[in-house]
Amino acid sequence: MPEQNDKAESIGGILPKKVMRLLDALKRTETGTIVHKHISNTLCEHEKNRDTIEKAYAEIIGRLLFFFSNQLEYNPELLAQLKIIRLGLTPPLSLHELDVLREFIDNSVQSAYSPAGISDDEFQEAIQPLLEAFGFVTSEQPRERKLKPPAQIMELDKNKRQNQQVTEDFNHRKVEYKVDSAFRKHLETQRDEFQRIEQEFAKTITHAIKQSNAFTSLLDQNINELTSLEAIEENEELEMRRQNIIREIQNIRNSHQEYLNGFSRINKTIQELDAGNRQLDEELNRVRLLSMTDDLTGLHNRRAFQQRLKEEIGRADRYQTPLTVIIMDLDEFKSINDAHGHRVGDLVLKLYSTEVFSIFRQHDMVTRYGGEEFAVILPNTDAEGGLRAISKVKRKVNKVVCKYQDIRFGLPTFSAGLAQYHPGEDVSDFVHRADTAMYLAKSKGRNLVEEAIVQQG
Ligand code: GH3
Ligand code: MG
Ligand code: MG
Repeated sequence: MPEQNDKAESIGGILPKKVMRLLDALKRTETGTIVHKHISNTLCEHEKNRDTIEKAYAEIIGRLLFFFSNQLEYNPELLAQLKIIRLGLTPPLSLHELDVLREFIDNSVQSAYSPAGISDDEFQEAIQPLLEAFGFVTSEQPRERKLKPPAQIMELDKNKRQNQQVTEDFNHRKVEYKVDSAFRKHLETQRDEFQRIEQEFAKTITHAIKQSNAFTSLLDQNINELTSLEAIEENEELEMRRQNIIREIQNIRNSHQEYLNGFSRINKTIQELDAGNRQLDEELNRVRLLSMTDDLTGLHNRRAFQQRLKEEIGRADRYQTPLTVIIMDLDEFKSINDAHGHRVGDLVLKLYSTEVFSIFRQHDMVTRYGGEEFAVILPNTDAEGGLRAISKVKRKVNKVVCKYQDIRFGLPTFSAGLAQYHPGEDVSDFVHRADTAMYLAKSKGRNLVEEAIVQQG
C-alpha cells in the first residue's frame, strides 16, 4: 500500500516539526544543536509508533469489512455501500461513523447469506497483513513462526535506540565538556522522561492490540450470527438475534471509545513533554550565560578574559615576562544605534571583531568585555608593544567601511586605556588601572589612548 505509507509519513511529520520549531533557538550553540537533534529523533520515533497504531487500526477494520462482504449474497447495492464505508474509514472512527456501520449491518440482516463460515486458512490469510503491520511477522517468514509479544518488540526497539545513543554520545564527547554538571543532570532527567513516554506508548500499543483482538472476535460473532439467520423461520427468534447483534455493536462502540481514551492519554503525555522542552530552553539560556564565548561576535567573553588573565599573571610572575592589558570602548556608539538601528550597531561590533581585531597576534586574546567595550590581553608584551598594537588597530579602523543596504559609513573610533602588569599586583587592581586610563582618554576628548600609571606601594 504505497499511498498509505506516504500519508502516514506526512501526518507523522507535523507534531515533531511544530515542537522542533519551538526549540529552534537551541541550534545557536554547538551543544544546543546536539540536544536539538536528540529531541528531534525521539519525537520522530514517537510519531512513528502512533502512525503504526493508526495504520493497524485502519487495516483491521478494512480487513474485517472485507470478510463481511465475502459472506454476503451477491448484491451489488450492498457491496457498493460496503465499499464506500471501507474507503471512508480513517481511524480513529467517530461515533457517527460507528452508528452508520451499525445501521448498515442492521439493515443487511435480512439479506445476509453465507454458504459456510470462515475457514482457519482464510482467516490466517486475511489477518496476515494486520500481523505484518504490527511487526509480528514479515511476508518472507513462514506462518508457523512463533510470534513475539508486543512488549518484547518494544524492548528490542528501545535497546536499538539506546545503542545508537551510546555511539552518538561518544562522538560528541569533545563538545560536551562545555556543559556544566547541573545541565547534564537536567538532560538525564529529560532522557528519563522520554523513556517514561516510550513505555506509555508501548502500553498503549499493547492495549490497542488487545482492543483490536476483541473487536475481531466481536465482528466474527456478528458474521456467524448473520450467517445463521438465514436458517431461521420464526419471527421471534429472528428478532432476538437482531437484538444480539445490536448489543454486540454497542460493545464495539464501547471498545472504540476506550481506544480513543488511550489516544487522549498520549496527547496529555505529549503536552507534558512540551512543558519539559520549555524548561530545557530556559536551562540552555542559563548555560549560555555560563559559557565562555559571546554569541554576537564569536569572541571570548568577560568570564574567559578573567580566567585567562589569572593564568597569564601566573606566567608573568613565574618567568618575569611583561604582560599588558588594553581596554577599548567605541566612541559615540549609541548614536549609530540611534541613527540606523540596532542591527547596524550589531554589524559594527561584528566588523570590529572580524576585520579589525584580526590584526592582533595569535596568542593575544581579544574579548568582548561589555556592550561596545573590548579587552585585550597581550602576553609577553610591554606597554610600548601595546601602544604599537593600538596604532595598528587605529589604522585598520580607518580602512573599514560599514555597508548595510544603502547605508555606508566608516567605523566609529575608540578610546583606549593600556596598563602593563606590575609584578605582584592584584588582578582586579591591574584591570582597574587599564579601565581608569580608558575613562581618562574619554574625558580628554575620545579617539585617544592613555597609558595607566604604575601605582606605588
Ligand atoms: P562613549 O563615547 O561615551 O562611549 O559613548 P557611547 O554612546 O559609545 O556610550 P554609551 O555608554 O552612552 O552607550 C553605549 C551604547 O551601546 C548603548 C547600548 O545600547 C549600545 N550597545 C551595547 N551593547 C550593544 C549590542 O550588543 N548591540 C548594539 N547594537 N548596541 C549595543
Ligand atoms: Mg562607548
Ligand atoms: Mg561603554
